[in-house]
Amino acid sequence: MSTSHSDAVTLTIENDVAVIEMNKPPINGLGHALRSGIADALDAANAEDAVKAIVLTGTPRAFSGGADVSEFGTPNAAREPNLRVVISLVEGSPKPVVAAIAGVCLGGGLELALGAHFRVALPDASLGLPEVKLGLLPGAGGTQRLPRLIGLEAALNMIVSGEAVPASRLAGTPLIDAIVEGDLKEGAMRYARQVVADGRPLKRARDLKVQHPNPAAFLQFARNTVAATAKGFPAPLACVEAVAHSIAKPFDEGLRLEREAFVALMGTPESRALRHVFAAERAASKLPDVPASVPADTPLRTIATVGVIGAGTMGGGITMNFLNAGMPVVLLETKQEALDKGVATIRRNYESTLKKGKLTQAQLDERMARLTPTLNYDGLRDVDLVIEAVFERIDVKQSVFTQLDDVCKPGAILASNTSYLDLDRIAGFTKRPGDVIGLHFFSPANVMRLLEIVRGARTAPDVLAACMALAKKIRKVAVVSGVCDGFIGNRMLARYGAAAGGLIDAGALPQQVDGALQKFGLAMGPFRMGDLAGLDIGWATRKRRAAEAGIEMRPVVADKLCEAGRFGQKTGAGWYRYEAGKRDPIPDPAVEALIADYRAERGMAPRKIGDDEIVERCIYALVNEGARILAEGIAARASDIDLVYLNGYGFPLKRGGPMLYADLVGLPNVVRSLRRYAADAGADPSWQPAPLLVELAEAGHTFNRRQEGCA
Ligand code: NAD
Repeated sequence: MSTSHSDAVTLTIENDVAVIEMNKPPINGLGHALRSGIADALDAANAEDAVKAIVLTGTPRAFSGGADVSEFGTPNAAREPNLRVVISLVEGSPKPVVAAIAGVCLGGGLELALGAHFRVALPDASLGLPEVKLGLLPGAGGTQRLPRLIGLEAALNMIVSGEAVPASRLAGTPLIDAIVEGDLKEGAMRYARQVVADGRPLKRARDLKVQHPNPAAFLQFARNTVAATAKGFPAPLACVEAVAHSIAKPFDEGLRLEREAFVALMGTPESRALRHVFAAERAASKLPDVPASVPADTPLRTIATVGVIGAGTMGGGITMNFLNAGMPVVLLETKQEALDKGVATIRRNYESTLKKGKLTQAQLDERMARLTPTLNYDGLRDVDLVIEAVFERIDVKQSVFTQLDDVCKPGAILASNTSYLDLDRIAGFTKRPGDVIGLHFFSPANVMRLLEIVRGARTAPDVLAACMALAKKIRKVAVVSGVCDGFIGNRMLARYGAAAGGLIDAGALPQQVDGALQKFGLAMGPFRMGDLAGLDIGWATRKRRAAEAGIEMRPVVADKLCEAGRFGQKTGAGWYRYEAGKRDPIPDPAVEALIADYRAERGMAPRKIGDDEIVERCIYALVNEGARILAEGIAARASDIDLVYLNGYGFPLKRGGPMLYADLVGLPNVVRSLRRYAADAGADPSWQPAPLLVELAEAGHTFNRRQEGCA
């Protein structure tokens, strides 16, 4: 007999065993349809006299991946029965319930399985409670039931790390009663019949006692370790406290406290930020006019081999990404010396990873064997993708792209790593502008997760789709940007830098500005970052812009530093001074004197500036330019901009990116401050709030809500 209890749940009665199957693609998200379907099927199975045991199972891909994210924010999310009720119905079933687990069994999915009396699984089923990664804790009994089944230490490890564990590693604990080889459903039914035949009592997790020889000492150790590694996020410690209740409190009291902690974490800005980033990464991979999966009959541009031009800072790092992913790379330079130096740097980087024990000699050799250094463009004839990382000069890019156009096979993708130059102009140097795209890596390119994919006016959709897929392969967070000066990240950075520079003019010192922004959470303040990247780059850009605009350049303080040969760390001095071979910035009286002279020359009277104003000006400058970038369609979504800043510019994860930060501060507050800054005598006109920002603030909207409305 088979009855369907909702579209997503089927009940099949096979003589004495009832099988409840969840089937809601892709991963059995526990939305209302599944929750109510399970509750109804359970009632029906218990009401059937012939049924002696119940098997609860999912699909080969997933027992359940947890909550149904598509239901968040809809009325269904709050519709009864909630997950905790469903789990207690399973646990309270008078007939034995056996959870049969294949695929993923995560979060609420594992909590549901913990409600069953017995669990059997395929060996490679993946079990975990990843809530901590979203700044939460398992809120449906996970912190109380898991320690009762696998012990305090193992449970705490799983809950605080959020990492999934294969069922094979849990076999032999009361969490996994049996590993099934072969057909899971058959195996689970056999197991259920054995339970009945043996007359085994129902094993309810709630009735078990947590085992540990010295829980107080262990928990104190756990608190210390977790506090030291939580980076200011509250969830990991809250997980420890919740698990501690499993040993100190009665079960129902533990459940109540777990729920309280869950609700409290849900309201923290840190969890808000982590959930935002999770959704942002999913959204960024979708492009409205490029199908996520290209139909089978469309030949997809495959990228199996790569050419890189320029073996400098970026070319070397870019090359390593592909070598690491198992792809052969042809690396081209114009001079043997530069080529040798680039290859030696790559080898040295791998050797230092080897010394840290994170790479074997065999892996190092394999990676280096995939690299073909060359001085000849003929070596690029057959590659599927070429990325140029030569000097940031349009004439050099022109010479490279003209040669690529001559030599590369038809259909090869021609990419530029340019930071600022006009990609459409670069595409125009070839007879195949549809094949040209920007792949903007961040330094160090083998480490930083961000990849800005720059879509030119004529970039073909399948070129874009192929590069998005490639980004996944080399484990980058890809964000698509339109063409403008500096694309998303560097265009905003220019406003941020100008705001920081304006603070110096007005009375602050570099160390104060950096200190305030680092306290806000940035990995590095703008002046330290400038010293690291090299001040000569910005100097060259400003000179270029002035020349392009046909205006005489008015040097800012950074230009004066460069005029004095202070290019940053590489010259031992920039905004700070550096001791030989060291990277620690030391405030420099010479810089203070240079700044004082600069102010005096311009008749600027320095004033005292507070840390709050520093943070506000710098971050709001980012937000304001972000709003313009959104309005122009350079970025598709506010959350894309957040991903750029989080993954490429050291913006603090706990703040979720500049645009989410603005949403949380309140857009009317941002507009009010920007108007105040714009009203200062002689203020840069870019302080005027962007029209989109004003529009959203007046409508009572946020960047995120605008995004959801459009999605
Ligand atoms: P770099 O000076 O370290 O390296 C450039 C390399 O290109 C040198 O090794 C040089 O010998 C080689 N080269 C120059 N002309 C060439 C040609 N015609 N053919 C072959 N090789 C040639 O510069 P970089 O910092 O690696 O920057 C390269 C590109 O990457 C620039 O467009 C830059 O804007 C961009 N970029 C740099 C960064 C960064 O932080 N450094 C970040 C993102 C993007």
